[in-house]
Amino acid sequence: MEKKVIYVDNNATTAVDPEVFKAMKPFLTDFYGNPSSIHRFGGQVAEHIENARKQVASLLGSDTEEITFTSCGTESDSAAIYSALNNCPTRKKVVVSKVEHPAVLNLGNHLRQMGYIVTEIPVDKKGRIDLEVVNEIIDTDTAVVSIMWANNETGNIYPVEKIAEIASKKGAIFHTDAVQAAGKIPINLKKTKIDMLSISGHKLHAPKGIGILYIKRGVRFKPFMIGGHQESGRRAGTENVASIVALGKACELADKYMDYENKEVKELRDHLEQGIISQIPKCRVNGDIENRVPNTTNIAFDYIEGESILLLLDRAGIAGSSGSACTTGSLEPSHVLRAMGVPYTSAHGSLRLSLSRFNTKDEMDYIIKTLIPIIKRLREISPYWEENK
Ligand code: PLP
Repeated sequence: MEKKVIYVDNNATTAVDPEVFKAMKPFLTDFYGNPSSIHRFGGQVAEHIENARKQVASLLGSDTEEITFTSCGTESDSAAIYSALNNCPTRKKVVVSKVEHPAVLNLGNHLRQMGYIVTEIPVDKKGRIDLEVVNEIIDTDTAVVSIMWANNETGNIYPVEKIAEIASKKGAIFHTDAVQAAGKIPINLKKTKIDMLSISGHKLHAPKGIGILYIKRGVRFKPFMIGGHQESGRRAGTENVASIVALGKACELADKYMDYENKEVKELRDHLEQGIISQIPKCRVNGDIENRVPNTTNIAFDYIEGESILLLLDRAGIAGSSGSACTTGSLEPSHVLRAMGVPYTSAHGSLRLSLSRFNTKDEMDYIIKTLIPIIKRLREISPYWEENK
């Protein structure tokens, strides 16, 4: 049998927690009724959907009626932004940041082609957003502002509560993609002016293909999926019951492990990061090390290719990433690192390692021990290293 992989690519996707799998399994086997059916066999399933909604609401500090189940984070992002635009046809401007996930950035490109004005807020060298710039860019022609809560590549946390207040003063809807924040940092939506928020199950130990959109009470919502009356008419289509139950359980567990994530997982990440940067020359951490989610580190190694590092790590049984999985295959360095002004020579050699509660200290030590000779070897064959070392 193949050696067990050391998995440090949890921002791409996570393992389904065994407890989550146990909770969802009966809904794939014994309780397969349609929750909209009149008979009890279906009706009893509907109760479990409502229980999952409560579990999600509890993680987010929202009311249960504010949670709508969707098929993924991407759907939630699209649903939020289209709804805001359709509800306010007189406003033609959309504001996003330069470091959004393609789920928002590429939607922005599409909206531009449809005639909207899409403005991308710049970031500084550490990937931070300046609130004064935000205040200047959001104006009374802005229909919707969508800024992520945490970045998938660097882990940077953005001041979305403050940005939501600015948007609210200008009468714009504020949406945040919290796919990389949920389960990693505490969220309490009751206290904020955030109108809409997306999360995705597979980033917090639930399966792929399930997400939610939070819609604040009182915020008008226009669905783009038209059909049946499921999810109070906000998202047509027969509910993905097993995955909904799984997401509910995953949110309950994320709440339970929140302190563990912010202490133990953070310590593991810091141990890994320190071990690497203290022993390998010419490398540095990308992003805002003071203000990022506890599980992520993104390290630039000058004068080598991230893809080569990944292949050699893979051979040693370590699964990491050089950026967002959705941009894999592109030869361009990550748009996030380019927006931060990271030079091409280091952006190309950047490695993202993202941990979970299932990682151990032994694994971190193994990664450090394995990475040191890999970087040395790749630099020995790099012409740029010879010239610049
Ligand atoms: N937003 C962010 C920040 C992400 O990291 C991802 C996935 O990588 C998504 C959105 C898309 O989520 P999903 O895969 O559920 O569509």
